[in-house]
Amino acid sequence: MDDDSISMVTSSAMTDDEVPKGPTVYFKTFGCRQNQYDTDYLKNLFRRRGYRVVEEGPADIVVVNTCAVTGRSAAKARQAIRAFARQGAKVVVTGCYSQIDPGQVADLPGVVAVSGVRGKGLALEALEEALRDGPGRTVVKVQPHEKTELFEEAFVERPTLTHAYLKVQEGCDDYCTYCIVPFARGPSRSRPLEEILKEAEKLIRMGKKELVLTGTHLGLYGPPPLSTLVKEICRLPGLVRLRLSSLEPHDVDEELLDCLRMPQVCHHLHLPLQSGSDRILRLMGRRYTLASFAKIAERARRIAPDLGLGTDIIVGFPGETDQDFQNTLRSLRDIGFSRVHAFRYSARPGTRAAALPGKVPEKEKSARLKEVLKVARELSLSFHRRYVGVPVEVLVEEELDRGMLTGVTRSYVRCWFYGKPDWAGELREVVPTKATSQGLIVARKDA
Ligand code: SF4
Repeated sequence: MDDDSISMVTSSAMTDDEVPKGPTVYFKTFGCRQNQYDTDYLKNLFRRRGYRVVEEGPADIVVVNTCAVTGRSAAKARQAIRAFARQGAKVVVTGCYSQIDPGQVADLPGVVAVSGVRGKGLALEALEEALRDGPGRTVVKVQPHEKTELFEEAFVERPTLTHAYLKVQEGCDDYCTYCIVPFARGPSRSRPLEEILKEAEKLIRMGKKELVLTGTHLGLYGPPPLSTLVKEICRLPGLVRLRLSSLEPHDVDEELLDCLRMPQVCHHLHLPLQSGSDRILRLMGRRYTLASFAKIAERARRIAPDLGLGTDIIVGFPGETDQDFQNTLRSLRDIGFSRVHAFRYSARPGTRAAALPGKVPEKEKSARLKEVLKVARELSLSFHRRYVGVPVEVLVEEELDRGMLTGVTRSYVRCWFYGKPDWAGELREVVPTKATSQGLIVARKDA
């Protein structure tokens, strides 16, 4: 690849079909749904500028959308950037890692352009400036966050048939002591209600059955409060399912729990507990106790007895003793989560927890992680078992292989079953015959 071969950028008025010769761009995304959403937005932007977005490498240009939530996430991004550079690609780096450490990212081999979280279109601008300037220059366009920053509109055309993520909020003001996200994503800002309703209507018209509300810290949405937003979206004709993505436990109030009574709202919550020890929760700067968390779970289950309840756990936070860890294991069972994501603590430079004493050795963290994952599998299996022999409604996503379809229930349990490929996008009732820790299986009738 030489510079001339990728310096052609066409008019933004052109469509994909009209510009078959633009440079190829491959997108590699690390991290959360926010990043996936931002990547989808960037893909559209690049397509409209005449680039050919490819789903597999090699490509002339690779855009790496990074995550910085753990030290490992940043290391994985660096590894990927080096690998793409070795393949000869020009690498554009964007996302959380480049927002917090643009200098380190710009020094990596093959990197021609760097942008952050703020200013979603800057990745493309920086790339085009780098291409114009020729080899040897890395263009960095990272804007620092400001307290008064507004929500950036970034409409995404999504290819999925069944569901669409609807981003309503960005940023976080909480500064939990271990978390780098507020530094990377900036202060909380919300999308205006009217804009959200317009996009939701459009998605429903496009045939999306399930809308998933997302945000960096979704519970900080507003004004109006998140519960009002949920109720307003549920009033839109044609909406089949509305799912809330991860919520901070202290943001879940009675009004929000009340939303679980609405027929469109999925009986599924993801509330990160992080630790079952109040002492560790305090050190983490979390704003709830184990008891207040358990109360929220209990109240939610009173409204929705079939609630799928997911959580995140961090093991090996500084000062976490074996007793603290045992409390975490016990609380997972006591609260009865249906899905547990667990992470080893990793110090993020600049966060308060990075300076805390009592580092837990890596070997111990790995052992604790293994134990949490074992309990997680048991809990998921036990939650799934209650559906064996019981009719469940599944939103069919796609055919995987020779008549085997997959989709999820309202409680967020994945199902595999046999049917017709054209069921994709429909709600179907199935009766699971087997449960695993991964989900529910319906055996083939003739098997
Ligand atoms: S609430 Fe805490 S963990 Fe979540 S993004 Fe904000 S600072 Fe990070």
